[in-house]
Amino acid sequence: MAELNDKITKLRKNYREIFVTCGEEIEKRVNELRPENLEGEIFQKYESDSAGYKWQVSVLELLDNEISKEIYRKLNEILAYRSQFKCIGCATCCKLASSEFSPEELKQKADNGDNFAGQFLSVFVPYKSKEEAEKIYPEYIELLKENGENDVYFYHCPKVTEDNRCSDYENRPQICRDFPDNPLSILPKACGYNEWKEEIEPIALMLHSMLEITDYYRTKLDELL
Ligand code: SF4
Ligand code: SF4
Repeated sequence: MAELNDKITKLRKNYREIFVTCGEEIEKRVNELRPENLEGEIFQKYESDSAGYKWQVSVLELLDNEISKEIYRKLNEILAYRSQFKCIGCATCCKLASSEFSPEELKQKADNGDNFAGQFLSVFVPYKSKEEAEKIYPEYIELLKENGENDVYFYHCPKVTEDNRCSDYENRPQICRDFPDNPLSILPKACGYNEWKEEIEPIALMLHSMLEITDYYRTKLDELL
C-alpha cells in the first residue's frame, strides 16, 4: 500500500514539473507568432482584423494543425507499443471497473451518442455495494478513498467465468480489446501491462499536460474571437 501511495505522490510531482515545462514550451511557440511591435497579450480582446486578432487566429491554427496532431500521433504510437506486452489473464479488469459516472449517468451519456458509455454499459453492471467490490481489489479502493475519490462507482462484467476467462471472447467489445487504453490509469498490481505503463509514463504525462494546456488556450481564444 505504502509503495502504491509513493508512486502516486511521485507521479503527481512529476506531472507538476512536466506541466510547467510544457506550458513554457507552448508559450514560447505562441510568442514566436506574435506580430512585431504588438502591444498586448494573447488573452485580451482585439478588434477584428487587427494584428492582435490575427495573432490569436494563427495561434488557434498552430494548436489545431500542429500541436494537437503531434500529440495524437504520439499517443497512438504509445498505444501501438502496448502490443509488445501481454495480458496475463488475471481478469481483474473484468471483475472491477470504476467510473466517475453512475449507471444512470452512463445511460444518459449512451443515449446521447457517447460510444464509450454505450460499450461500457453493454458489458458492465454495477456492484451492489462498495464493500462487495472491495473484496476484489481492496488496495485500489483504499487508495481511491485516501485520495478523496469517494464518488467513484464500481462495476463488474457477468461474462467472466470462475477460471478468469471471458465467456464471450469473440464478441467482446472494443473497450475490452483496447484495455488499458489510458497509460495514466492505475492498473492492478498483477496486470501484464504495468511494464508498458512504467516505460511510457513520462511521455504519457507530457502528452496529458500538453492536452490540458492546449485545451485551456483553445477555450480562452474561442471566447475572445
Ligand atoms: S466481455 Fe469479456 S473481456 Fe470484456 S469485461 Fe466481460 S469478461 Fe472481460
Ligand atoms: S488486469 Fe491486465 S493482465 Fe489482468 S486481465 Fe486485465 S489486461 Fe489482462
